[in-house]
Amino acid sequence: MCDKKLKINLDRLTESKAAGICESNNYKVKGVVMRHPDGDVCVVELSAVRWLEKNDWWDIMHPGIRTEREIIMGLLGAAVCPCCDGGGAYYDNNEPTQCQWCYEKDQIMNRTKDDKS
Ligand SMILES: [Zn+2]
Repeated sequence: MCDKKLKINLDRLTESKAAGICESNNYKVKGVVMRHPDGDVCVVELSAVRWLEKNDWWDIMHPGIRTEREIIMGLLGAAVCPCCDGGGAYYDNNEPTQCQWCYEKDQIMNRTKDDKS
């Protein structure tokens, strides 16, 4: 049994909003939301614990608002390569050449994909 005590120190606006919701809508504080410096979130409510990655928490708190990652993926996915047919290579003086634009696009999209996991 853990007997540690939590010192809760809310910012003024968060405390004011929560107090107003409790008073006006008959809600009770039954848990806490904790944020890691990297943005991940942990929710403890009625002794249940839920761990959420920062992007999943963003989706919960801002439904319908696309994240920077989704915007980048959308723009890059729609972008047309100015150098080749999009296949990632072209012929330069009959020599097959890797397309730098496509290579860098793939690097960014794979890096952005890795950020999600
Ligand atoms: Zn290309």
